[in-house]
Amino acid sequence: MTKIIDGRKIAKEISESLKVKVEDFIEKYEMSPKLAVIIIGSDPASLFYVKMISKSCERVSIDFEKYSLSEETTQEELLRIIDGLNKNKELSGIIVQVPLPRHINQERIQEAVSPSKDVDCFNPINMGRLALGKPEFLPCTPYAVYELMKRENIVAEGKHTVIVGRSNIVGRPMALILLQKKKYANATLTVCHSRTNDLAHYTRQADILIAAVGRPEIIKKDMVKEGVVIIDVGTNEVEGKLVGDVAYEEVLEKVSAITPVPGGVGPITNVMLMQNTLKAAEKLVVSE
Ligand code: NAP
Repeated sequence: MTKIIDGRKIAKEISESLKVKVEDFIEKYEMSPKLAVIIIGSDPASLFYVKMISKSCERVSIDFEKYSLSEETTQEELLRIIDGLNKNKELSGIIVQVPLPRHINQERIQEAVSPSKDVDCFNPINMGRLALGKPEFLPCTPYAVYELMKRENIVAEGKHTVIVGRSNIVGRPMALILLQKKKYANATLTVCHSRTNDLAHYTRQADILIAAVGRPEIIKKDMVKEGVVIIDVGTNEVEGKLVGDVAYEEVLEKVSAITPVPGGVGPITNVMLMQNTLKAAEKLVVSE
């Protein structure tokens, strides 16, 4: 029997319990956790994503503030705004929506967001903490995968997990999360990427396969073994339809469990951003 993992259901469950925690926080501290999102320009995908974040905030009673800046904003101006937000005691979390215009250095901006408000976990200090197994925040997409694994009782320990993709947003932090000495982590790992020779040689060895490539249906039926658990992070638009990195229909008969696209990892990601924002708010009140 193949289990289709329902990401929407998991997201709803986490969101509902998070709302209760946020309301407890508001009652206890008489203030609401608050997330600020800076968006530069009018890229439709970014605008859509920011709208989704605002809806997620509303759902769990987290305050949301949007800073819409013009395409002409200079790096210095942006750094000044971030500095102001870093110092603003009402704010728990800050996100700077990427991509940024070409004249702005993304790394410089990500470094400027205070590590204690870096709910996207892009600041190198937070990535470094994760690399050392002492994370403050977890990056939202791999955090969503980890949360999904916990809730679906997908145990990496004692098995072989293969991750395809090593980006700083998904594949690399995914590997670091699963290397932690923690329940549902303790993984034995292989990480593949575009320079891997004979990808199928590795994916066929996976008990748990996590695909974060961004190539529609690159993982075919003959590349996976019988009984594998597949977590498909990929979201690719093909002829107006969203498909994953895994040839879903083909592999179904071989897998023991799989996340669909859409409706798998995607819906959980924004909820983990909310989780990080509450965590940041809690740390802020404790540190004062
Ligand atoms: P990315 O930055 O483009 O990284 C893709 C990774 O895949 C890279 O490590 C790349 O290798 C590797 N790769 C590319 N072609 C390959 C091939 N033929 N064989 C093996 N590896 C290959 O993408 P990303 O930001 O990590 O995103 C990956 C996918 O996840 C995308 O579809 C994206 O839309 C999706 N995503 C989903 C969510 C969500 O919430 N569900 C969030 C973020 C991203 P190199 O390092 O060698 O270039």
